Amino acid sequence: MTEQLVEDLVAGQADDWDLAGAVPEKVLRELGAAGLLCPEVPAGYGGRGATSRWAGEFTAALGAHCGSTRSVLTSQSMAAGMITRLGDRAQRAEHLPRLCAGTLAAVAFSEPGAGSDLSAITTEVRRDGDHVVVTGHKTWTTAARYADLVVVVGVEDDGGAAVVVPADAPGVSIRPVENPSGCRAAGHADVHLDHVRLPATAVLGGGGQPSRLLVTAALGYGRLSVAWGCVGILRACLAAASAHAASRGQFGVPLAEHQLVARHLAELLVAERTATLACEHASERLDAGSPDHVVAAVLAKNVAATAATRGASSAVQVLGSAAARDGHVVARAYRDAKLMEIIEGSTEICQLLLARHALSGGG
Ligand code: FAD
Repeated sequence: MTEQLVEDLVAGQADDWDLAGAVPEKVLRELGAAGLLCPEVPAGYGGRGATSRWAGEFTAALGAHCGSTRSVLTSQSMAAGMITRLGDRAQRAEHLPRLCAGTLAAVAFSEPGAGSDLSAITTEVRRDGDHVVVTGHKTWTTAARYADLVVVVGVEDDGGAAVVVPADAPGVSIRPVENPSGCRAAGHADVHLDHVRLPATAVLGGGGQPSRLLVTAALGYGRLSVAWGCVGILRACLAAASAHAASRGQFGVPLAEHQLVARHLAELLVAERTATLACEHASERLDAGSPDHVVAAVLAKNVAATAATRGASSAVQVLGSAAARDGHVVARAYRDAKLMEIIEGSTEICQLLLARHALSGGG
């Protein structure tokens, strides 16, 4: 049923959406109302109660069709994950059922001066009686153009605070990022917060959490979701490159019979299998409740994002001029994949985290 819904709503549409720079909102609302944009939300809150492994395979399947729609899923899953992990009982009961019924959400932590270094966040959450006032500038917030609510990570006197901000609250303005190079329909936007006054109940868990906990709560979900999305990119590239190499002839034989072309296919297969295994491992650790799921997700993200960049580049090489223009799945994959090395902890930040793990004696 889920596969059919994705086939009906998404399959074959992604290139048009990429060129138009938007996914039809109706499609996102329908996927959301089926609980598919945050499938791990427990059934008690109206969700599908999916395992990380199931959600991962679904993310890869969606990502193989459309990196932008998959990006919206990642944002929604991050928002739901933060509310689940940081919110109190009333906040979970208020927000999670909505996120499984068509309400769309984004997560905003990056700022112009706070990219890889999230300790530099300056968005202020100021207490004012039984209200809070949020002021700051968030940048590159995926799905913000579609979102009904944005989970904003800010700082207050005694630590960090994640605040659920309605996108239509007075003082919120959402300005699209113009001409992104990849995931062009993912609804990236800058979110400006000008003295946005909200009830204090909008602060997840009451606030005052260490900023590091807030960032880990957001990125923990985001990294694994992006990694599975990269598996989808690799599967789409492998299918397109194999089909092309088998059907197009040059020098009197199919391209696939030229060994230098066949090597690209072999490398793509290795990349897809390796990324899949790293993601399966991380999801299994998460589903088992093992504390090592955090480092397993960093590893999966690092493996899958770098493999997707290399794999998409190989696929372009196999297709030649056929993939040298917009409107082709492989051209889109090539642009989308590179951005996966920047987000949710860039390749370098993942490497630093993995090195720190190795130095601490981690195996
Ligand atoms: P910088 O931090 O300036 O880094 C530039 C380069 O320097 C990178 O290669 C980086 O790896 C390297 N570098 C930085 N520090 C170190 C170091 N200590 N050691 C070695 N190398 C280092 N943000 C959100 O809050 N929500 C979103 O939904 C969201 N979605 C995004 C979607 C896309 C497509 C993109 C491109 C960005 C998105 N972002 C989002 C922002 C994203 O999280 C940041 O772009 C990312 O954290 C990197 O920050 P930066 O771009 O400022 O690069």
